[in-house]
Amino acid sequence: MTTIKQPDVLIVGAGWAGMYALHRLRRLGYTALILEAGSDVGGTWYWNRYPGARCDIESTHYSYSFDEDLQQEWTWTERYPSQLELLAYAHHVAERFDLRKDIHFDTQVTNADWDPTNEYWTLATQDGENYSAPFCIMATGPLSAPKSPEISGLDSFSGSVLNTSNWPEDVSDFSKQRVAVIGTGSSGIQVIPEIAKTAEQLYVLQRTASYSLPAHNRPLKSDEIATAKEQYPELRNAARESFDGLAIPNRGLSAFDVVEEERDEIYQEVYAKGAPFEFQGTFTDQMTDIAANQTAAEFVAGKIEQRVDDPATAEALTPSTYPIATRRLCIDTDYYETFNRSNVKLIDLLSDPIDRVTEAGIKTEDHQYDVDTIVLATGFDAITGALNRIEIRGNNGQLLRDKWRDHISSYLGLMVNGFPNMFTVTGPLSPSVLSNMMVSLEHHVEWITDCIDYLSRKQVTTIEPTIEAELDWSKHANDVAEGTLFPQSDSWYMGANVEGKSRQMLPYVGGVGHYRQITNKIAAAGYRGFELHSSAQSAVR
Ligand code: FAD
Ligand code: NAP
Repeated sequence: MTTIKQPDVLIVGAGWAGMYALHRLRRLGYTALILEAGSDVGGTWYWNRYPGARCDIESTHYSYSFDEDLQQEWTWTERYPSQLELLAYAHHVAERFDLRKDIHFDTQVTNADWDPTNEYWTLATQDGENYSAPFCIMATGPLSAPKSPEISGLDSFSGSVLNTSNWPEDVSDFSKQRVAVIGTGSSGIQVIPEIAKTAEQLYVLQRTASYSLPAHNRPLKSDEIATAKEQYPELRNAARESFDGLAIPNRGLSAFDVVEEERDEIYQEVYAKGAPFEFQGTFTDQMTDIAANQTAAEFVAGKIEQRVDDPATAEALTPSTYPIATRRLCIDTDYYETFNRSNVKLIDLLSDPIDRVTEAGIKTEDHQYDVDTIVLATGFDAITGALNRIEIRGNNGQLLRDKWRDHISSYLGLMVNGFPNMFTVTGPLSPSVLSNMMVSLEHHVEWITDCIDYLSRKQVTTIEPTIEAELDWSKHANDVAEGTLFPQSDSWYMGANVEGKSRQMLPYVGGVGHYRQITNKIAAAGYRGFELHSSAQSAVR
């Protein structure tokens, strides 16, 4: 039987963004309900449970800042938090704010339809239930739609296939197994050293090599925790106004303001910290000038050479086809050293591509690798994937997926013309994954919930960006990206990992602090660039 449930706001997704949106709406006096495909809270950290899964932003930065008591009572144990610790934190937040009572788990949203007459969204689920509300917040996540691996024959494989993005609980022991890992992005780089510890034989199938720095992860000392807790207000403010959502000191130097020896000393200083965001911004022109970028690439290539015993393997592990950090700069624990183990072999797919998966294992053009388990670390249809997997129909029944077929546009990454009253958290053309996501998603949730509150108080029933504002923002985001090296890479940032996807820089490269100022000014000006409309009936109670 179909049930209609009508809170003020429907939220899709119970990751950090959805959880905070629910909490904040309640505090503002609205009713909200989350629909979540998974069986519990945590989003990314609920699904990606593979051995070695860990954040690449320090725990004291990658945590909610909205509640002083929360940040004082929670104590992080490691510099870079593990998936387990992040999930425990998500559970703590859910319990502390009593969130689960307004979350429907195991509820996959398949359709979202805007009714222009009655001015509400109806969300349909795979179980045939319908939910309606005047506002809808898509907190569906930038990296929650696993990419199809596009490898033929997977169904014929007689062993087990595991995907890092939907890892079964408690699978970490690969003793007596021959394992193949496909994919060497951030997920592959984290899972490979862990599997190598127990597997009889591990084949690493690499198409594009990644740059990675040693993470230097370690337990946090009690005085570090005390200092962070004491300094949270300043740290958080600095992060909000910073370029990437992290309070990183800026040297203000071009790579060519210093001679080679001094430049390498500076790189070494940052490299030794295991801080990827700081490393990619060591010099101000690293992401805009190819010659400056090359100095960083050469420095890291030298480190890879030192970390890998076999020169041919080191060479194959060294990227050569894109500027450093135009694909996610990874951090690792013993990734390159893993290739010095006798049970690990690198298969370079550029010289010997995968032909297909067979019953016994993986057939490349020149070889057959018989294995018991295949691990897919093949990435995501990023930023727009989770939205496009829902049939989202706005004005005149227009499908969002169709609107975005040739070009992905959005006003501020927050709303899309043609789709009134539907907000996207860290949507396309907002800083999102180029930043500390915690800072970016908190900002979005606050902007969106403040907006809903404003509309309600002003008795405005619908909000929608004008097409002019959307096109202006999309052009601006593209222009900023064109001034950087990002477009030179076939990365998922550029939508290039998914066949047929529009090739454009999906995150906004203009910086978190700058973006925050723009969006806040737009709100303060009565939501400039948006059309606000009031019908006779107020949208929310
Ligand atoms: P998510 O955590 O992705 O939550 C979205 C939720 O929406 C999911 O639970 C999903 O099930 C649900 N959902 C989606 N579609 C539907 C639907 N149709 N119906 C119902 N539910 C749906 N960011 C960083 O800043 N630093 C890091 O170190 C970092 N590490 C990462 C490591 C991994 C392995 C991955 C995949 C991502 C990482 N990220 C990192 C990005 C990470 O996604 C964000 O930091 C953050 O967790 C996003 O939170 P969110 O709530 O926006 O989305
Ligand atoms: P990814 O970076 O997109 O890496 C996917 C890998 O799979 C690439 O090496 C890709 O090669 C390869 N691949 C895809 N399809 C293939 C095929 N058919 N045959 C052979 N190889 C194939 O995905 P990810 O590693 O899951 O990371 C995605 C993002 O999640 C990261 O960039 C990061 O933002 C986040 N993340 C962060 C952490 C962390 O450190 N905290 C950990 C995991 C993920 P090609 O590039 O050649 O296509």
